[in-house]
Amino acid sequence: MLIEGYDLEILTPPCEPGAERYFAKAHLPEDISEVLPYLNGTLSGASFMPAAKALTWEKDGHRVAFHAVEIDLGTIESREWAEQQMDELIELINRTWDRREELTPDFETIQRLTPMAVYQRLPKTNCGQCGESTCFNFGLKLVMSQKELKDCPPLFEPQYGENLSALEADLIAAGHAGG
Ligand code: SF4
Repeated sequence: MLIEGYDLEILTPPCEPGAERYFAKAHLPEDISEVLPYLNGTLSGASFMPAAKALTWEKDGHRVAFHAVEIDLGTIESREWAEQQMDELIELINRTWDRREELTPDFETIQRLTPMAVYQRLPKTNCGQCGESTCFNFGLKLVMSQKELKDCPPLFEPQYGENLSALEADLIAAGHAGG
């Protein structure tokens, strides 16, 4: 067994304090980077980003992002529900790690929407209103479903109308629910 426990953190979007929409983050006691290629080889629809040590996947319609020492789960229903989902994800990690000798790791990056592609359509002012220090970081988080287009207020200014429409289309094509 690789992971025996975790600390669960429940977050609301930084731009919406007190919002009804919640995200969950499991802080892990061990680095799971070495498991990610095995998960990439077994999980249908997973998207692996080796350089970022991150893998995204959709579990029952909810976006999951595996990082080296944390797991993010999008749009949760309650703390109890999030705990149950995280327990299942930890079990998946441990089961995959235990079976690694019979599995084939997949190091290929299959990512339909890249952070750079998003960045190219952003205002590129690094204004920080989204809570990120750079537009590129925002693009990275957007691709991993940790940010939404509406978290970037300048994008809704008239001069960026075409960029916004293009990004909305990109996200739908990439299978992200909404923008
Ligand atoms: S709010 Fe938009 S323009 Fe400002 S840093 Fe974030 S992504 Fe860039």
